[in-house]
Amino acid sequence: MPAEIIAVGTEIASGAKLDTNSQWLSLRLGEVGIPVRYHTTVADDFDANVEVFRTALQRAEIVLVTGGLGPTQDDLTRQALAQALGVDLVLDDPSLHAIEEMFASRGRPMSASNRLQAMFPRGSSPLPNPVGTAPGIWCSLLRAGEAPAHLAAMPGVPSEMHRMFREQVEPRLTGHSVIRRAVVNCFGFGEAQTEELLGDLTRRGADPEVGITAHEATISLRIIAQGIRQTDCDAKIEGVRRLLAERLGDTIFGVDDEEPEHVVVRELAQRGATVGVCESATRGNLSERLMRVEGGERVLRGGLVLPADAVFSALLDGVPSPPSALNAATGSALAVQLAQAARRRFHTAYGLGVTSLGEVALGGGRTVACAWVAVADGEHTHAAEARSTGNPAIFAPRTSKIALDLLRRRLLGLRPSLDS
Ligand code: ATP
Ligand code: MG
Repeated sequence: MPAEIIAVGTEIASGAKLDTNSQWLSLRLGEVGIPVRYHTTVADDFDANVEVFRTALQRAEIVLVTGGLGPTQDDLTRQALAQALGVDLVLDDPSLHAIEEMFASRGRPMSASNRLQAMFPRGSSPLPNPVGTAPGIWCSLLRAGEAPAHLAAMPGVPSEMHRMFREQVEPRLTGHSVIRRAVVNCFGFGEAQTEELLGDLTRRGADPEVGITAHEATISLRIIAQGIRQTDCDAKIEGVRRLLAERLGDTIFGVDDEEPEHVVVRELAQRGATVGVCESATRGNLSERLMRVEGGERVLRGGLVLPADAVFSALLDGVPSPPSALNAATGSALAVQLAQAARRRFHTAYGLGVTSLGEVALGGGRTVACAWVAVADGEHTHAAEARSTGNPAIFAPRTSKIALDLLRRRLLGLRPSLDS
């Protein structure tokens, strides 16, 4: 059941705008086992659109089009599609009504060109758009001696397209089977290490399928289950969750879009507890993460961002400035002092500290850049190392997450770190 994805728009063809729609749609089709054979990009040109649609309807069984459904002169998808199918455009009263309602509810006048958005190639059906004016188009083409081709034309606006695909196109593609997804997030192991621990679970074609993605050192396990009923899918997903818990243990911290800071803010809020931060190498990233989470402003009492060469003692009672070259011993000690200073300075139950950069020896005369992080409460302190992985863009978020994970573990009464 090969598919073709077509992105319509001069802004895309010219390079002014990146085509994220095709990428998103390819990923979604991949999830339901439909291979994508072509990506086509075409400018807002009538003849070119007709040609592209004709070609796609011959060589693919599923054609997904985005863009060009709007009311303006350069939006030509519906007209070009009608031409490619060899049919005329007819008015769909319910769609016209829906568009009129949308304008009325927003108190905006409707222009004559919006009426065009209620016109559809004869024989096609409208895909209602609850979040925009342009309905999408669904049509099927019978082909002699071959399986029919199905085409869905959706709006170019990514949020409108996503919703239309999920609610109306995907169910048409997957027939009667149901698809359920779940995402489990963990922190501590690398991507390759996680894959090794999961073994056959991530095998291609496994049911349910488990995919691994990494984002700034957070590893996400994406579970996709397909079945006749929703309860079958849920049971399959539950089974995978149990296996993941067995193999990844307490590195699992959350689901969906959750990051370690979400867990930390939630746990602190539940206890009515607060946290303060003194950070250097993370350049404010740690405080910002906590601040950005809903409810974060209530648990983060303050964050102090210290440049590497700051005179720490002037800012923080009793904390010496870092020696010119931090090493494993001085680094952990300084991180603990910073975490304790954060508690004192902001009068909080917990403190988090991140040192400036230092180095640890790897043997053979080689060294690796490193920062140290620590958590402190009234009784305990615990420090950890955050080595540079070579990608500077990942260093700050990863280091912040190592610090947050120390606090998460402290709050939940887990072992302080993976290797303890
Ligand atoms: P509308 O009804 O909102 O006018 P449309 O179907 O006419 O939708 P376009 O006018 O082509 O869509 O695009 C609307 C917006 O969506 C523009 O901001 C455009 O840059 C963006 N967009 C269009 N196609 C893509 C794409 N393939 N990837 C990412 N963004 C896109
Ligand atoms: Mg356009």
